Amino acid sequence: MASDTNQRVHRTAAILSIGDELALGETVDTNSAWIAQRLTVHGVKPITHVTVDDDLVSIVAIMRELAARVDVVVSSGGLGPTNDDLTRPALARAIGDELVEDAEALAFLTTRFRAIGRELLEANRVQTLRPASGRCLDNDRGTAPGLAASLMEDGRACDFFCLPGPPREMRPMFERSVLTALHPPRDRVVRLRTLHVFGLPESQIPALLGGLMERGRNPVVGTSAQTGYVTCKIRYEGDPAEADAALDGAEAQVRAALDPFVYGADEETLATTVSGLLRDRRETVATAESCTGGLVAKMLTDLAGSSDIFVGGWATYSNEFKHGSLGVPLDVIVKCGAVSEDVARAMAEGALTRSEAFGRPATHALSITGVAGPGGGTRVKPVGTVWIARATRGDDTDVRLFRFSDQRDAIRERSALAALGMLRLKLIERTDVKLLWEQ
Ligand code: ATP
Repeated sequence: MASDTNQRVHRTAAILSIGDELALGETVDTNSAWIAQRLTVHGVKPITHVTVDDDLVSIVAIMRELAARVDVVVSSGGLGPTNDDLTRPALARAIGDELVEDAEALAFLTTRFRAIGRELLEANRVQTLRPASGRCLDNDRGTAPGLAASLMEDGRACDFFCLPGPPREMRPMFERSVLTALHPPRDRVVRLRTLHVFGLPESQIPALLGGLMERGRNPVVGTSAQTGYVTCKIRYEGDPAEADAALDGAEAQVRAALDPFVYGADEETLATTVSGLLRDRRETVATAESCTGGLVAKMLTDLAGSSDIFVGGWATYSNEFKHGSLGVPLDVIVKCGAVSEDVARAMAEGALTRSEAFGRPATHALSITGVAGPGGGTRVKPVGTVWIARATRGDDTDVRLFRFSDQRDAIRERSALAALGMLRLKLIERTDVKLLWEQ
């Protein structure tokens, strides 16, 4: 198959997910989305996703159907050692091949089992079978080798790559054995660039971007709302030689049109962006959180090396802790309520001052106090009312009122992002800007 594949151009792909639990919705199919994204970036266009249950006849029928439509099929699942793992026999039957034992896969699996003091079971031996004309793909994270083979349907050949279901086995096998065997068209690539936007509603973005989002345009921009932020995907399809310049141009236009709300690209998050800005300036932050219970601290400390920029934080849920830990005056809490501008201000300023006691005074402090719900709301302070403050040494404290409308989890997540968003505005010197949900 290797030489055949070398000559074929892979323009279109189908993604096939195999397993009862996927068909029944018990397992969320994350493999398909991941594979589709990787194929797209590589220049092969996924045109369909199919999910099929563990039924031999159905799997064979779908394999043949897909083989007639696309240049390459990438499947995941159904390569395990049990009777309901049917990808192997289905592929052999679809091709019209015998299943034969693969000597290398057998030796590899035997050695692996010996290394952990176990004998190879007959059930595992089944995993070393492959269609006679195909080959096995190494799996260094599990017992199921993958399979590669070609299927002729309606006089055209389609290359199949069958990968194991568990994402931690599937992904490295895809990178190592599938991407390297594909031949995307040289005259056409698909490239994506992702920009993340915080503080603007998705509904305002089309008007700001003008024609950039028009269907049929190349590159074209599409948006999708996440919890608390919006993603803008810039998609270019065409001559590889022009891809970088086209994407750079579109990215610059999006950044300018949405300034200053674009905070990052691709894998960046608000926490990585804010951490980077703090690190560049050799500054630090402390947190004082009530309704988010430490979420901002978590977002910052999820990142390796965060001790450079994060000195510590308080999760002060009760009034007594707000008073005892941060020095928020009890009479202010009684007079204004725990969810109030004065308390948010006192929490942030208290965190800044108290951080001095530990020998690492923070440059900035963020505080959050709000009603995350579902209970506890009143007419004046309904669920979703959140006060957020940013205190900075030598600067006025910035205190803002937000009203988030959603469930508890989303309110907490958005509150934490809004706090990071406020700090980002300070770090890029744009504190004049109002953020989405701000009153
Ligand atoms: P194994 O040898 O581990 O059984 P397999 O190829 O037979 O590998 P399956 O038994 O079909 O894989 O699935 C094993 C597990 O992999 C599932 O329980 C599920 O957790 C995960 N999985 C399978 N398919 C997908 C998918 N499309 N998206 C996300 N996870 C998946």
